Order: sequence, then C-alpha cells, then structure tokens
Amino acid sequence: MIAVGRTVNLEVLVDLKLEDIVGKSIVFIGDAKSVNGMAYVAEKEGVDAVNFLIKEVSCEFCIHTNSLICSSRTMEISQCFSKNIAIPYIVFSDPEIAVVGLTEKSAAEKGIKVKIAKYLYRQMGRSHCDGEIAGEVKMLVSAGSDKVIGVQLFGACATEIIQIASILMHTGMNYQEWIEMIWPHPVYCEIFKEALKNLK
Ligand SMILES: Cc1cc2nc3c(=O)[nH]c(=O)nc-3n(C[C@H](O)[C@H](O)[C@H](O)COP(=O)(O)OP(=O)(O)OC[C@H]3O[C@@H](n4cnc5c(N)ncnc54)[C@H](O)[C@@H]3O)c2cc1C
Repeated sequence: MIAVGRTVNLEVLVDLKLEDIVGKSIVFIGDAKSVNGMAYVAEKEGVDAVNFLIKEVSCEFCIHTNSLICSSRTMEISQCFSKNIAIPYIVFSDPEIAVVGLTEKSAAEKGIKVKIAKYLYRQMGRSHCDGEIAGEVKMLVSAGSDKVIGVQLFGACATEIIQIASILMHTGMNYQEWIEMIWPHPVYCEIFKEALKNLK
C-alpha cells in the first residue's frame, strides 16, 4: 500500500484580485485549511463558519483578508489550524489506530514538557477474554498542568474508545481526576486509567 496523503491546493488564491477581497473576510474550512482533513472536522467547521458569517460569532479559522495580503498567503493559512487539540483521528486498519491531541514530537516543538504513560492491551482482562492482546496506548500529560494533552492508541476497538479520551481531554480534567473516576471492568477503555496509573 502506498499512503502518501493529501495536501492543500492553494492555487485558487493566486488568482484572487486584491480589489475583490480587501476589507472582506475569507473563511477556510475542511480540507482547504487542514493537513489531516477529515469529514467530521469539515462538518464542524462548516457550522462554525456559517455562524461566523451570519451571526458574527468568533471563528478561529477565519482569516481576514488584510492580514492575508500582508505576508505570504500560504504561511498565513498554514498557521490557521484548529486550536482544538481534542480532535480524534482514526485508521480502520487491523489492529485499529486512533490518536487525539499532541504527539511527543509535536509537544516538544511547542516547548511543552510532558510525562509519558504507557499500557499494553495484553495487560487487560478484556483483551484476553476476546483474544485481542495486540495493542498499546501512549498518553502524554503536560508536566506543567497535569492535563492529558495527547493519546496514541492501537488495538481492538481503538477507533471507538478514542472518543472517551477525547471527551475527557475536552473537559480539561487533570490526569488524577481521570484515575479517580469509576471505570467499568473488563472493558478496553480501562487502558486509559491503567496507563495513567503508570505515569512516569
Ligand atoms: C479515499 C478517502 C477516504 C476518506 N475517508 C474518510 C473517513 O473515513 N472519514 C472521514 O471523516 N473523512 C474521510 N476522508 C476525508 C473527507 O472526505 C474530507 O476530509 C472531506 O470530504 C472534506 O470536506 P470539504 O468540504 O473540505 O471538501 P470536499 O468534500 O472535497 O468538498 C469540496 C467540494 O468543492 C468542489 N470544488 C473544488 N474546486 C472547486 C471549484 N474551483 N469551484 C467549485 N467547486 C469546487 C469539489 O468538487 C467538492 O465537491 C476521506 C478522503 C478520501 C480521499
């Protein structure tokens, strides 16, 4: 399999005439602004964009044309990725892959110091019940705030359970609060709690 991904084609901007866009706003949504374009991200951004345009509700991915013209158009747009880090990305492979938030590398690039938590599927009861012992989770906790800022997961039901991590990240709970919640057993999503108990 060759999986080369997709990139944004900004050629259309080259043809824009300044007099047509000065003083107006251009709103980018979906694949036009994202390197990891997904339909569910585009859908949310579409709703936000309409609210921005008709209700003037603030919209993080709106680029006002004045700033667009000032400097490199491509650079301005590439900086306009969503600030919402709790966007899950999923791969329907076998085993399944799912990620949300920052990776160790992207956290380092942002200057965020992290603590790492890991746990294996083979350490969980449910994995053995189902014969699905291949898999692992890696979780990143901000050393400053103690909040979970990234989760990378592969294994059974990864594409389903990632949303649990996504929701908890969205609440802004710190990692101790994740652990203190009561989790059912034996289930795959226990992997988040068990990993955080092993935080290094
Ligand atoms: C093979 C594949 C599998 C995918 N699987 C998933 C998945 O499982 N889950 C998921 O969430 N996402 C998936 N995606 C990604 C998802 O399809 C995109 O992220 C989503 O469609 C982006 O929506 P959009 O509105 O930004 O762009 P699009 O859906 O591409 O819409 C852009 C529209 O603009 C039109 N257009 C282009 N140029 C012009 C022009 N000059 N004038 C007028 N119209 C124009 C196009 O014809 C198109 O209809 C997949 C993508 C691919 C390629």
